[in-house]
Amino acid sequence: MIVFEHVSKQYSQDAYALKDVSLSIADGELIFLAGPSGAGKSTLLKMIAGIEKPSSGRVSVNGQDISKLKTSSLPYLRRKLGLILQDQKLLNDRSVLSNVMLPLVVTGASSTEAEQRARIALEKVGLPDKAASLPMALSGGEQQRVAIARAIVNRPQIILADEPSAFLDRENANKVLGALKAFQSAGVTCIISSHDEQFLDQASRVIYLSQGQVVNTWKSSLAA
Ligand code: ADP
Ligand code: ADP
Repeated sequence: MIVFEHVSKQYSQDAYALKDVSLSIADGELIFLAGPSGAGKSTLLKMIAGIEKPSSGRVSVNGQDISKLKTSSLPYLRRKLGLILQDQKLLNDRSVLSNVMLPLVVTGASSTEAEQRARIALEKVGLPDKAASLPMALSGGEQQRVAIARAIVNRPQIILADEPSAFLDRENANKVLGALKAFQSAGVTCIISSHDEQFLDQASRVIYLSQGQVVNTWKSSLAA
């Protein structure tokens, strides 16, 4: 469960990235964060991961107040999260497999186990035959699916994806989204930001942001 209570974020005195946002997201939901560029979608996602802190208000994940977490506790929070953020590029000097293994290697898994789980993650996003490739040799859509594999290799409870379908054509965007939806079907909470309206009807709920405020929220007819 993710809860925002009267959360505001000000980067400067008169500019709010988020303004008095209150919402709660239950386990297993597939949420689309919609709204134009600059609406505050990335800021909202980063707050769930503790990357940005609220200027006021409270964000909690599974009952734990994120802003009260010590820096030393953040890695424990992050282990529950799969992050697909725009500023996290794949490393181009190593293979796809090695990129996906990385989150496991840094948490001390053996290389045998890391490799095994990374291969399973690549299968789940439909790219088992790209393990040995360099990221640069892949299409944009494939690279985005590698980023998803890297995000889910730790088996997170929550996936946060910032504009995962940006710059992709419809077919590739559909594959990326299909991969994310498969995790939601397995019980993982997915929060996906998108300014791409064509996918909104696939979400269990759409939260529409404008100028840092929730201006609309609706449940899809597919909602469980
Ligand atoms: P979105 O993801 O919907 O495009 P963002 O959360 O990135 O929106 O940005 C919301 C607003 O906050 C924008 O006006 C943006 O310029 C501003 N903003 C975001 N990050 C920073 C930052 N680090 N410093 C100053 N302003 C920022
Ligand atoms: P299993 O016991 O086979 O892992 P689960 O019921 O846990 O089955 O999950 C169903 C499917 O979804 C399996 O393929 C599982 O590996 C996958 N899965 C479940 N949760 C996650 C997660 N957080 N990250 C990645 N894959 C997951």
